[in-house]
Amino acid sequence: MQNKESYTFNPISTAFLAFTHIAAIGAFLPENFSWSAVWLCMFLYWLTASVGVCFGFHRLLSHRAFKIPLALELFVVCCGALACEGTPRKWIAHHRLHHRFSDTQKDPHNASQGFWWAHIGWMCFNHKDADNPVKIKELAYDICTGTFFRPFNNFLFIIWMQIAIGLILFLIGGWPWVFWGVFLRLVIVWHATWLVNSAAHYFGYKTYDLPEPDRSTNCWWVGLLAWGEGWHNNHHKCPSSARHGWKWFEIDMTWWFIRFLEIAGIATQVKAVRPS
Ligand SMILES: [Zn+2]
Ligand SMILES: [Zn+2]
Repeated sequence: MQNKESYTFNPISTAFLAFTHIAAIGAFLPENFSWSAVWLCMFLYWLTASVGVCFGFHRLLSHRAFKIPLALELFVVCCGALACEGTPRKWIAHHRLHHRFSDTQKDPHNASQGFWWAHIGWMCFNHKDADNPVKIKELAYDICTGTFFRPFNNFLFIIWMQIAIGLILFLIGGWPWVFWGVFLRLVIVWHATWLVNSAAHYFGYKTYDLPEPDRSTNCWWVGLLAWGEGWHNNHHKCPSSARHGWKWFEIDMTWWFIRFLEIAGIATQVKAVRPS
């Protein structure tokens, strides 16, 4: 059981999550429906979740599983920031803690504390250690250090980016583009990626028996929704590998994207290590 003294309630984060979920319902009002808005939502889901979070924050920055040119890295960080899952530095610090202390009290989204805690509950609280700015800097010392990357260390900058995108979408496609392209898209991106912390620690199969209490699993439907990140047991076994899906049915779309960039000569030093 989690030590309650380790946490304090975070009303701002909770209100932000609640507001976005409520606003997303607006996408289902008949006047806010248009096919262009649906396509826009799907495109931005791919751009911010797959390119930004799975390819960028996770496999590129957290695990350094490959390299890409700096200008492209900046674009990828922009895409990840638009997923609004915190600053890249904090996201990566939390993720590195997750691998180091999987499903223990030191893991910010400790799945041993329940599915819903790992899915969303942990973000409504400040974790004494994991949210300590000094600790975050220590864990993600290599993240967003260059001149152009530094603004991303301020979450307000990220919120302003989202507002700017919302404004551009409003000018082009009106409210349907705002509700589908910002609010509903954020909710889809969030739950798809959060499922990696929750469902991919609860459902599916284990190719590898990892030391207790690591509960990570390979879950096919999380694999599809989160662009290949559902092959999470494989990933826990070998975190530095750019490729997570290994069996013929383990569809790993983020890996296809990395492989495409490697063939095109854009991604280099790609580590694709099959766990043994
Ligand atoms: Zn995990
Ligand atoms: Zn990882």
